[in-house]
Amino acid sequence: MIIRSNAHTHCDFCDGADSAESMVKAALAHGFSDLGFSCHGYTPFEVEYSLKDSCGDAYRAEIKRLKLLYANQINISCGVEQDFYAPVIRSDYDYLIGSVHYLKDPRRDVYYGVDADQATLAACIDGLFGGDAMTMVEQFYRISVENAIKYQPDIIGHFDLVTKYNDIKLFFDQDSPAYQKIALTALDQAAAVQPIFEINTGAFANGITATPYPEPFLLKSLQKLGGRVMINSDCHSAEQLNSCFADALHLAKECGFRRLSVLEGGKFIEKAI
Ligand SMILES: [Zn+2]
Ligand SMILES: [Zn+2]
Repeated sequence: MIIRSNAHTHCDFCDGADSAESMVKAALAHGFSDLGFSCHGYTPFEVEYSLKDSCGDAYRAEIKRLKLLYANQINISCGVEQDFYAPVIRSDYDYLIGSVHYLKDPRRDVYYGVDADQATLAACIDGLFGGDAMTMVEQFYRISVENAIKYQPDIIGHFDLVTKYNDIKLFFDQDSPAYQKIALTALDQAAAVQPIFEINTGAFANGITATPYPEPFLLKSLQKLGGRVMINSDCHSAEQLNSCFADALHLAKECGFRRLSVLEGGKFIEKAI
């Protein structure tokens, strides 16, 4: 199987480096059947990384222009990546990726991006959780479950993003039964909503994490639960459009999956690996 689409694609309407049309041209060069854009929905507390206008009109207009312009070469979809704390109008988009990027200070209007950098994650653990990383982990996964239940996204984005700057054991021990129990319990609850979980190669392709999200122990559990997975690059540049797809496919097989969800003909369909 060769994956010829990507549903988690950023461009310069949010924090991507390249224009939407550059992403389309890269998709054509790879022989893609489909390309799904998923800019970060307008996020008022961190606008520089998200769509700049709250309604997303300019973004949708450009994707619609490209969809028509390249209609005889590739199927283009206009999705959105919604953060838990920045809901969008779902009917404006072809599909929704639901992600948790931030933990919020309940006492004031401050958000810590768990995927920002190590210093931000450390400040979050110290500032919100009195230095207790495992309590932070519990809160992250509690919100992740709420995200799945409340918004019922088509795709759950990078389910264990909280591990991005943990460097396996910097703040908490990802291999410990305590951590894995928290993550597995949340996975069980989120999977009950029956979304597609993405195998997200973004941080792995950039050498930040040892494996794509989510970690193999979570993928194996998801497979046993009968969950669906798809492979996405979460790319922020044209050159990374399908980075590490072969590695992710190998991982999916190793974790027992025999089918993948893929974006094809503008729809999410199941295909044998
Ligand atoms: Zn994300
Ligand atoms: Zn993303």
